[in-house]
Amino acid sequence: MSTQQNSAIQLQDKVSVLKGVGSKMTERLHKLKLYTLNDLLFHLPSRYQDRTRIYPIAHLRAGQQVLIEGEVQKTDILNSRRRMMVCQVSDGTASINLRFFYFSAAQQRGLSQGTTVRCFGEIRYSTYGAEIVHPEYQILGDKPLALDQTLTPTYPSTEGLQQRTLRRLCQEALSHLDTVADLIPPELLRPYAMPTLREALHILHTPNAECSLEAILAGQHPAQQRLAFEELLAHHLSLLKFKVQAKQQKAPAFKLNTKTQQSKIKNNAIAESDMPAKAFFEQLIDYLPFNPTGAQTRVIKEIRQDISQASPMVRLVQGDVGSGKTLVAAAAALDAIEAGYQVALMAPTELLAEQHYQTFTEWLEPMDLEVTWIAGQQTAKQRRRNVENLLLGISHIAIGTHALFQDSVEFQQLGLIIVDEQHRFGVQQRLRLREKGYQGGQYPHQLIMTATPIPRTLAMTAYADLDYSIIDELPPGRQAIKTVALANTRRPEVVERVKLACQQGQQVYWVCTLIEESEILESQAAEETWKLLQENLHGLNVGLVHGRMASDEKESVMHRFKRGDLHLLVATTVIEVGVDVPNATLMIIENAERLGLAQLHQLRGRVGRGTKASSCVLLFQAPLSKNSRKRLDALRKTTDGFKIAQIDLSLRGAGEVLGTKQTGEMQLKVADLARDQDILPQVQYLAEQIIQHYPERIEPLINRWMPETAAYASV
Ligand code: ADP
Ligand code: MG
Repeated sequence: MSTQQNSAIQLQDKVSVLKGVGSKMTERLHKLKLYTLNDLLFHLPSRYQDRTRIYPIAHLRAGQQVLIEGEVQKTDILNSRRRMMVCQVSDGTASINLRFFYFSAAQQRGLSQGTTVRCFGEIRYSTYGAEIVHPEYQILGDKPLALDQTLTPTYPSTEGLQQRTLRRLCQEALSHLDTVADLIPPELLRPYAMPTLREALHILHTPNAECSLEAILAGQHPAQQRLAFEELLAHHLSLLKFKVQAKQQKAPAFKLNTKTQQSKIKNNAIAESDMPAKAFFEQLIDYLPFNPTGAQTRVIKEIRQDISQASPMVRLVQGDVGSGKTLVAAAAALDAIEAGYQVALMAPTELLAEQHYQTFTEWLEPMDLEVTWIAGQQTAKQRRRNVENLLLGISHIAIGTHALFQDSVEFQQLGLIIVDEQHRFGVQQRLRLREKGYQGGQYPHQLIMTATPIPRTLAMTAYADLDYSIIDELPPGRQAIKTVALANTRRPEVVERVKLACQQGQQVYWVCTLIEESEILESQAAEETWKLLQENLHGLNVGLVHGRMASDEKESVMHRFKRGDLHLLVATTVIEVGVDVPNATLMIIENAERLGLAQLHQLRGRVGRGTKASSCVLLFQAPLSKNSRKRLDALRKTTDGFKIAQIDLSLRGAGEVLGTKQTGEMQLKVADLARDQDILPQVQYLAEQIIQHYPERIEPLINRWMPETAAYASV
């Protein structure tokens, strides 16, 4: 507890005020984002070692890190593949082997028969029974050796920073615990029977021996729940703050139909009132061979409501594969164009951008609207002309990949940004994109569309800064995709099945996947499969598309597949998102056991887009791991993207599902969105309460848990 010497130190002081923290150490602490004592206080252990009790050897489980104590039965040097020392220790309940690959003669002598040792290490089971490889150990003499009173924390660390040091510094911070403020008003927390903040921090830095290590390791300890709750709350508040800030900014209001009417009225007021001109979107509906689904209509209405306001829309539309998001995007785009603004539509791949370009050209050209394609691999001349058309306002909509947002691309008057098929899109990116479109005191509206469904409560937390729509209905006539999982050994049957399908006039995808993030290897695999299938399927037209082909090559192959010139398309995962060929009814996915659920669901979504029954064959290499089996089972049992997302979440965790793991965005210290799903509704409720009744608590909470975010919140 507080010593004389540090009594003047306060929690908000810099770490350098602590004894022994020089400039080197300060630097290392900064690497861990530890700037103040307060940060140390909230720097929580990632693991604990339990050296408070001795476990009977008979009761050990693999993977446990425990203390054991016993008498050496024998110590042998073995010379099998590798020289090693094996020391058998028994405590009367059972025996265990200590295995050393590096050891000295002195060590060997020390572990002689009859010696009592106390060891700590991770328990493994080999064919010879329980063992610990390279345990920490102590030879016990006559005097008994005391056990620790508390669990030993292991903190997230960085190079050159020892656990011992971190433990000492965190203990110092902990000695100021009585000055830490409880930022959540107690009356709001009362219904949840959780420990106070101080109790929670104290427990987690120094859990005593009675504390359930298992509960802590599972993140279920009330102390963790208390902190997770507060962290999620801070996170939620920071996103809501963005939302409020965004709503205070200006954006062009697209008033439905007004522009056409006004311009017509100028020419001929009487004719206009008799027969109002049809809005672009209504013209599109007339042109299309189908009617929007109820869900499309509802979401379009939600969007139109947003973009008719003078503050920027930032709306996420979730719709399963094939739910018809493109039409929803077109509705928003046409309103923007109608109001005299330009639209930017960004797709994640050139292939998709190209496909959107074709769709929008087909849909918009009859209205004399100009659609422009901005691609990485255009000739300089083409590109210059396209860029110029955008700047001059000749083009109404620009479609492309992120190339759209290079500095060389400028719009005359950008009113709407649409981002398609992109859920790997964090807060920072959303903000940056919005800045990019800032012009004349106005921000463009933003529509983000994703086919990767995220469970609702999770989405409401991860995307609390966005408005949120779901297209929860597929166009009529779609048939469920029948999915089977087959071991690789049954490949010949599968090839026969492909042949039959093609002969019956259906089209087939054959997807080659590799686990390595290597486009080269994946492309090579696809090329080989392509050659083999061409031999096996004599007389059928087999195409190949992979990531290493030039984009015009890719396009021409995709075109031929779309037109029906190709029976079979061998492809890598480049066809994952968005590709739309309704006549394709069979998909074979190789190495399906290696892919994540979301990706498999995306791939499978390339079939079942027409009215014919479709199927998907998941080829796998036996034996399957437990998780792979669960994934393949989930796919066989359901085609509902939301159900699949929920399963994915429990198998992989939220970071993967949200695609934020790599970007490092939304790195939570204590909370885990997958594990803590149950408390998300309470968190949302409390956030509202705090905004309404305790607004002064918002900033301190955000600062405490996400100081980095607080920095860019004021953009
Ligand atoms: P996604 O949501 O996966 O982007 P798309 O917009 O590509 O879906 O639409 C998938 C297919 O469904 C397209 O061929 C599209 O023309 C068609 N489609 C979209 N809406 C409807 C509808 N309301 N009725 C019938 N077909 C539709
Ligand atoms: Mg799409």
